[in-house]
Amino acid sequence: MSMSYEAGAPAPTGFVPLCIPRVRGNEWIYVKECLDTNWISSVGTYVTRFEEEMAAYLGVKRAVAVVNGTAGLHTALLILGVQPDDEVIVPSLTFVAPVNAIRYCGAWPVFMDVQRDTWQMDVGKVADFLEGECKHHNSELINRSTGRRVRALLPVHILGHPVDMDPLIELAQKHNLALIEDATESLGAKYRDLMVGTIGDVAVLSFNGNKLISTGGGGMIVTDDDRLADYARYLTTQAKDDPLEYFHGEIGYNYRLTNVLAALGVAQLEQIEDYIAAKRRIAARYCEGLAGVQGLTLPLQADWALSTFWLYTLLVNEKKYGMDSRALLRALRDRGIQTRPLWHPIHRLKPYRDCQAYKVEVADWLYERGLAIPCSVGLPALDQDRVIEAMIELGRK
Ligand SMILES: *Cc1c(COP(=O)(O)O)cnc(C)c1O
Repeated sequence: MSMSYEAGAPAPTGFVPLCIPRVRGNEWIYVKECLDTNWISSVGTYVTRFEEEMAAYLGVKRAVAVVNGTAGLHTALLILGVQPDDEVIVPSLTFVAPVNAIRYCGAWPVFMDVQRDTWQMDVGKVADFLEGECKHHNSELINRSTGRRVRALLPVHILGHPVDMDPLIELAQKHNLALIEDATESLGAKYRDLMVGTIGDVAVLSFNGNKLISTGGGGMIVTDDDRLADYARYLTTQAKDDPLEYFHGEIGYNYRLTNVLAALGVAQLEQIEDYIAAKRRIAARYCEGLAGVQGLTLPLQADWALSTFWLYTLLVNEKKYGMDSRALLRALRDRGIQTRPLWHPIHRLKPYRDCQAYKVEVADWLYERGLAIPCSVGLPALDQDRVIEAMIELGRK
């Protein structure tokens, strides 16, 4: 089976892909309307509709559609005033996008560990770092070891499960830090009774090929703050000051989503409840089928959380299961089943090796053991059973 298989491509027959989009609603109708009416570019009714309907779904005041989640994160950091040489707190176990976005601003990541049960950013260690390693100076929080200003917290709700946000809200208020949610992997999840993406000052969503809903590529910045939303719209449309004349008040970006892609987004959003139900049904079936298998740790849902189980990931204990996560990956690949390891902890990657990592241990532990297994919203039960049977058969008897 091809190694280069990516979400968004049709799956070869007999192959069980990791996580691919499902396009079975009004996508064709809405996209055709864009083409028929010539509204294909970055202005159009679908962009506005997608923004309004996402804001209504989440229960936030404003939403600004952008070309992708990474651009959304870059913009979110800019509108919250992250400056060159500021520092931003971020987990080491994440997809690399939020960390790159910090560097696009000329700011620096400070890497935090993740919790052993939820795999989310360890808010206890964040508190220890801010209160033990930083000091207040002229109403700013200064990292003692680097001398730089800590400006923002950037928790990433990974794999469909929320971060424990209450302690972060408290820390952000206490130390005057901006709070940005990277909600790209956990649209539809809840923290207590709050939708993920409605908790921080600003949150960012993604609609790339394997996210819960997909526009092929796309993202959104959401916030309750009109001033921040207006500023995000301004920066993402080249900081254009005049509708006619080419006046630009600062350095802007061409980050707006096109109407054609927004049309896909509107159609996808109509189906979101079904998608979440499908993800949770898949998680429940894995739980039933794999719970008794020695050496596999299944993902949990904290009692204060509603997880979408967006990317169903489990841990493989080499001694108890009989092979490690990478050997299992290869064995499943030989059977036409696509899986994927967790992200390499970012503080060990070449561009980030010299950045500060605060007592990161669990991220490495999870990285060795984690394996994401097939969980497309359209995954047929028979294919899922094939995955379950293969994993039972490959394990230690
Ligand atoms: C997918 C993702 C993003 C954004 O990705 P884009 O492809 O730029 O939309 C950002 N952060 C995390 C953690 C992600 O998984």
